[in-house]
Amino acid sequence: MREFWAFRFQHRESEGKTLLQGGRLFNQLAVDCYAAIEQQRLNYIKAHQPEMRADLYQGLEDAVVAGDTDASAVGRRIVLPSSFTGADQDKPVTPEDIDEFICAEIPNKNVDPLAYETVVRSMVHGPCGPHNRNAPCMVDGKCSKHYPKKFSNQTTIDEDGFVSYWRRNKPSNTVTINRVEIDNRWIVPYNRDLLVLFNAHINVEKCASPKSTKYMYKYTYKGIDFATIVIENNVDNPQNNGE
Ligand SMILES: [Zn+2]
Repeated sequence: MREFWAFRFQHRESEGKTLLQGGRLFNQLAVDCYAAIEQQRLNYIKAHQPEMRADLYQGLEDAVVAGDTDASAVGRRIVLPSSFTGADQDKPVTPEDIDEFICAEIPNKNVDPLAYETVVRSMVHGPCGPHNRNAPCMVDGKCSKHYPKKFSNQTTIDEDGFVSYWRRNKPSNTVTINRVEIDNRWIVPYNRDLLVLFNAHINVEKCASPKSTKYMYKYTYKGIDFATIVIENNVDNPQNNGE
């Protein structure tokens, strides 16, 4: 099923794009497909417990059952392999785990010049607000993406799972773009290796809720950027006229 939907969700020149242009309806379909694929995987695991040697966990199961005084609470236990997404529930994601993969700071120019160049070129938001009231992100006089973010000396996760990345207030982490001094509050979160590999704007965020899954699908399938350009004669230099 995964392969089928992965195939259907691609853009092809030779086919209609009704599905991909479905907007919110398409987001909903993507989430439904994801849920169906996961259910299919779970059913497979449930039906193939012997091959997965789930009986090896019997000792563990006995111990758990022994502590269970309520007989009605004892059901059939299904062991999920560690390769199943989300199976390893023992270790919650910590801010340190997030810091290992995601960064929202301007890299040190001397230590990692390549990352510095790429972040400055691709990962600076705006600047908007007082610097540019007409920026595309401005809605009712405010940045709809909530930039500039707040400075923070550490990454934090609130009770809704929302992550605030560390953005330290360091004079060395600044760059001047279009006469505006940009610091770590303006950096869109990224993964250093992905950014350098593709040399493009790649926003990487920690996702945990169904809402973020929808957001992710929207991003993947929202289509390419378009620009309208007009080519005119060079009026300042008559010699080039018509070229
Ligand atoms: Zn903005």
